[in-house]
Amino acid sequence: MFLKDMKKIFFKSTCAVCSKPLNEREYDICEKCFSEIERVSSIKKEGDLYFFLPYNDHLKSLIFKYKYGSIKDISTIYSRLFRYKLLDVLASEKIEVIIPVPIHEKRENARGFNQVEEIIKALKYPYMKIRRSENTNSMHNFH
Ligand SMILES: [Zn+2]
Repeated sequence: MFLKDMKKIFFKSTCAVCSKPLNEREYDICEKCFSEIERVSSIKKEGDLYFFLPYNDHLKSLIFKYKYGSIKDISTIYSRLFRYKLLDVLASEKIEVIIPVPIHEKRENARGFNQVEEIIKALKYPYMKIRRSENTNSMHNFH
């Protein structure tokens, strides 16, 4: 009883995607939303670049909350979703270290974190941080 109450205090008790209450085995995202995103997710390769997933409504909602709602904990959901697919790519391409695309210090300070870096941290994979030299437009503004 005590542990259950503590869990309610320290952990979010609603799904990050659909906002339904989570059961005791779920954390951050409900099983239904997780399996729906996992079902449609894949890694595609074009040239030297790998792309994650087709865009569906669940994922759109999760990405929006992650980027603009500054919800850092969502990085653990991403790492759970893509861990095995990503580790397969890293192994098959013999990639030893990941370099997250840097965001400008001002933007990182405003958000409080680099969203790609947080996902890599959650994967527990070696990564190297590099600095961006000027404050360019965010990818969101590119057409
Ligand atoms: Zn849900």
